Amino acid sequence: HVSLNDAYKDLGKVEWPVTLSDREKYMFMIRRGIEEGQIRPHYQPIMNGDGEVYGFEVLVRWPHPEQGTIPPNKFIPFAEEEGFVDEIDRYVCEYACHEMKQLMDQLGQKFILTVNVSAKHITKGHYIKELKETLEKTSFPPELLAIEVTETSLVVNLKEAAYVINDVRNLGAQVWIDDFGTVYSSLNYLRHLPLDVIKLDGSFIRNIQDNKVDRTICSTIIQLAHELNLKVVAEGIEEGCQLKELKQLNCELFQGYHFHKPLGIEELRHYIKGVKVL
Ligand code: C2E
Ligand code: CA
Ligand code: CA
Ligand code: CA
Repeated sequence: HVSLNDAYKDLGKVEWPVTLSDREKYMFMIRRGIEEGQIRPHYQPIMNGDGEVYGFEVLVRWPHPEQGTIPPNKFIPFAEEEGFVDEIDRYVCEYACHEMKQLMDQLGQKFILTVNVSAKHITKGHYIKELKETLEKTSFPPELLAIEVTETSLVVNLKEAAYVINDVRNLGAQVWIDDFGTVYSSLNYLRHLPLDVIKLDGSFIRNIQDNKVDRTICSTIIQLAHELNLKVVAEGIEEGCQLKELKQLNCELFQGYHFHKPLGIEELRHYIKGVKVL
C-alpha cells in the first residue's frame, strides 16, 4: 500500500519532510490496521433461555503487533472525535457479514449477527446506502442482521433517528437499542422509535442478586419491553445466579462472560461445534 510519505509527496505545497501530530499518527496507525487486516471482528455469543446460541454480537479487536491488544474503548472514541469512525464501522460490518455468511453456509446454520454502529455514523446521510451495499456485496441475509444503536446516538435528533431506523427496517434488518437505561430519557425512545430489541445495560445486572433497586429496575424494564412486543437481551452476565434471577424475571436472551468472551472466527468455528444452536 501507499506509505504516508508517498501520499504526501504529491501535495507539493507541504514542507518536506512532513511532521505529523500524535493524533495524525494515531489515525494513520488505525487506518493501516484496517488496510492490513490487523483490526478484526470478534464474536460474543448471545444465548436463549434453553442455553442455545441465538446469535453473535460483533466486537472489534485490534491485536497491535507492538502494543498488545488495543481495546475498542481506546480507539473508537478517538475515531469518533476525528470523524472517521464510519470507516471502522463499515469495515467491521462488511468483514463480519462476509465471515459469518461463509461460516453459516459451511455449517448450514443461521445466526443473528449484531453490529455496533456509532452515533456519529448513523446520522451521516450515507449510512443506509452503505448498509445496503454491504448486504448485497456479502450476500448476507438482511433478516439476520441487527444494528445496535446506543441511546446517546438517538439523543441528537429523534426525528432523524426515526427515519434512519425505519430505513434499516425497510431493508429487512433489525434495530436493537444498546446499553438501555443508562441515559435519562430512555423511555422516550420507546415511545417514538420502532425498535426490535432492548439490551439491558450490564450495570443493572451486576448487583441484581442483592440490590433490590437494581432488581426492580430490571424487572420493570423487562415487563415494559414485553408489553411493547420487544425482546430483551441482558448484557454482562458473569454469574450463574444472575442468569437465574433474570430468567425468573422472564428475560429471554443473555450475553456475558458467564457464557463466553468475544471469540475470533477460528475460535468461534471450534466453539460452535460443541454447542446447541437454535
Ligand atoms: P458494548 O457495545 O456495550 O459491548 C459490550 C462490552 O462488554 C464489550 O466490550 C464486551 O466485551 C464486554 N462484555 C461482554 N460480556 C461481559 C461481561 O460479562 N462482563 C463485562 N464486564 N464485560 C463484558 P468491548 O469489546 O471492549 O467493547 C467496548 C465498547 O466498544 C462496546 O460496548 C461498543 O460500544 C464499542 N465497540 C466495540 N466494537 C465496536 C464497533 O465495531 N463499532 C463501534 N462503533 N463501537 C464498537
Ligand atoms: Ca453493543
Ligand atoms: Ca452494551
Ligand atoms: Ca457500551
